[in-house]
Amino acid sequence: MAGTAVIIVAAGRGQRFGAPTPKQYLHVAGAPVIRHAVAAFADHPGISVIQPVIHPDDREVLADALSGLTYAAPVAGGAARQDSVRNGLAALAALPPALVPDRVLVHDAARPNVSRALIDRILAALDTVSAAIPGVAVVDTLKRADAGGAVIETVPRDALWRVQTPQGFRFADLLAAHAATAGASLTDDAAVMEAAGHTVAIVEGDEDNLKVTSPGDLARMEDIMTDTTSALRQSLPAFRIGSGFDVHRFGPGDSIVLCGVDIPSDRALLGHSDADVALHAVTDAILGAIADGDIGSHFPPSDPQWRGAASDKFLQHACSLMDDAGYELTNIDVTIICEFPKVGPHRTAMRARLADICGLGISCVSVKATTTEQLGFTGRGEGIAAQASVMINAKC
Ligand code: MG
Repeated sequence: MAGTAVIIVAAGRGQRFGAPTPKQYLHVAGAPVIRHAVAAFADHPGISVIQPVIHPDDREVLADALSGLTYAAPVAGGAARQDSVRNGLAALAALPPALVPDRVLVHDAARPNVSRALIDRILAALDTVSAAIPGVAVVDTLKRADAGGAVIETVPRDALWRVQTPQGFRFADLLAAHAATAGASLTDDAAVMEAAGHTVAIVEGDEDNLKVTSPGDLARMEDIMTDTTSALRQSLPAFRIGSGFDVHRFGPGDSIVLCGVDIPSDRALLGHSDADVALHAVTDAILGAIADGDIGSHFPPSDPQWRGAASDKFLQHACSLMDDAGYELTNIDVTIICEFPKVGPHRTAMRARLADICGLGISCVSVKATTTEQLGFTGRGEGIAAQASVMINAKC
């Protein structure tokens, strides 16, 4: 068993909505609601399978809405949401054993604005708990009222949360919990796990991860989703550049890591992390392009969790901050300054690794090398310096 699947629950007919088309297929921010929801997971490297659960009448409209995206053959939902999720779980359980996921997220198709950061938080929580759900603490005062709208009482809001999807679970646990609670009327999968005796952890939700349940919600969602885009388009320049520079000294060891490539050597670079001087320069260049501090401010050397860390983590984090800021990489140019090791034999591997980490084509990644003619600290073989330039462009 391996990987994380996501079940997209889209079987509802949206009776509350009053429109002839189910709400998840209506358009918001230029695409069907469900396309935004599915694309968020399709773009996430941690998700292995996307399993839609739909009304049988919606096969064609789903295919139109998701054209070009990769997802598993949709399965039909049941009478209640719980039945639909159970059908989705059954489809995943019936995959060849090697493809059966060990974790599963369940997400409402009617939540189009799920962020990468929220998915990351749920996945991270599942490393330590068997059930994790996003929640937003209730801050408004709560009242219970009668049918006529007269207040009966004020309800204490302490410890109350509004919960959202995606909800994340260990696959085998959720499968068993659904089997054990079949027939019960439960409104979300966390309730299914609770009923089966599991502890469910709440992680930080997102106020903008709204569920579209009424035409008013659709208009509000349109504002939230297009506002971000138009604000970015209007206020941010189309292109920005950044530069980074780093030095690490040599010490005892048997390999040098440059651009994520391990090069056998009679010495190593010293540092708190793996001392990949080239990746550090690229990371700083990206942070510089989005004007968001430097590698030291995001990964302080005083923090023990980065001891010996592989530097691709730093670079990936910088890339996700850049993504959040509304930009993507245009190209990278790195110069490694050293007397040794010889970079030439490793240049292609370095470009490929850098391209892979940053999600860029190799033709947009340059790795160059130079010496300093035996002058200065690099010339004396005391260490390696690297400098990097990046260009980033606003996403449209
Ligand atoms: Mg460094």
